[in-house]
Amino acid sequence: MSQATRFIGAHVSASGGVENAPLNAAKLGANAFALFTKNQRRWEAKPLTASNIKQFQDNCARLGFAPAQILPHDSYLINLGHPEPEALERSRLAFIDEMQRCEQLGLTLLNFHPGSHLRKISEAECLATIAESINLALAATAGVTAVIENTAGQGSNLGHSFEQLAAIIDGVEDKSRVGVCLDTCHTFAAGYDLSSHAAAEATFAEFDRIVGLEYLKGMHLNGSKSALGSRVDRHHSLMEGEMGTEVFAFLMNHPATVGIPMVLETIDDTLWAEEINWLRSLQKADAAA
Ligand SMILES: [Zn+2]
Ligand SMILES: [Zn+2]
Repeated sequence: MSQATRFIGAHVSASGGVENAPLNAAKLGANAFALFTKNQRRWEAKPLTASNIKQFQDNCARLGFAPAQILPHDSYLINLGHPEPEALERSRLAFIDEMQRCEQLGLTLLNFHPGSHLRKISEAECLATIAESINLALAATAGVTAVIENTAGQGSNLGHSFEQLAAIIDGVEDKSRVGVCLDTCHTFAAGYDLSSHAAAEATFAEFDRIVGLEYLKGMHLNGSKSALGSRVDRHHSLMEGEMGTEVFAFLMNHPATVGIPMVLETIDDTLWAEEINWLRSLQKADAAA
């Protein structure tokens, strides 16, 4: 009897310095985590110091977090598909800074929301702009994969359909450094049913057909307060909400989730340790192993 390794954790606080994130993750019994490497609600950020970087890397090594288990998230202010040149430039520079911070920390993934057309340009133009933004960031950095998070499709946010994710990837020159993070709440709110094992299987088959499961580089595990197809992004605890819990048993046993970070962004952080344990308990021993 054996279980394939699954990396399960939560988006933990990096308050006081990035080096605190692995400590916070370890307290939860997690073997994965997400973090912001700067204040996610501000444009400006102090550069990481040599001491931040060393302590982060020491803590990660001591607590057993390899780069593949860590999924940093970029700032909420960045819009890589911005319709206006000046604002687009600001977002692109901030995104390159985020990629460089990951590079400095020795991290290999950066999770981000693709962008919004703000009803000023077409969907196709916005998707092409996002792809070009990714190309620029990949050219300016090395070793970090740009991981596009699917969205709930609230407002003019793109990346809510698998076709849109595929269109962005199609415009990225270096396919080896682009991937997707599926957020269960966003997927469900965007209209992809995950409310039963069969529904989750059909949704994953559709993702595989349109995007390709080889691009799945991370997951956000959340319940959803909002209904299927509501296009409203409201996370809930894992055991609560409109989606039910069968999807999590499906995910904990799907081959595509082996070796990628799976991160809780659920609303009650006092439940995270329990939610992580519960997710682990859903893993069945691999019959074939
Ligand atoms: Zn996100
Ligand atoms: Zn998310």
